[in-house]
Amino acid sequence: MARVISDSCIACGACEGTCPVGAISMGDGKYEVDAASCIDCGACEGGCPVGAISEA
Ligand code: SF4
Ligand code: SF4
Repeated sequence: MARVISDSCIACGACEGTCPVGAISMGDGKYEVDAASCIDCGACEGGCPVGAISEA
């Protein structure tokens, strides 16, 4: 399983640097998690100001 980023994302970029495997990057209007790289550690989730990151 991987974390997912919802449409609530305001593209602040805060989560990108918190991911230990570099699975988060800017996508089409919002940030996205590469499901193939995500190890589901949860490190990104708490830092999101709008709660856009959740378990898939
Ligand atoms: Fe990266 Fe962990 Fe978030 Fe997955 S759960 S995107 S590995 S910080
Ligand atoms: Fe989007 Fe939240 Fe990541 Fe900011 S921290 S880019 S709002 S998912």
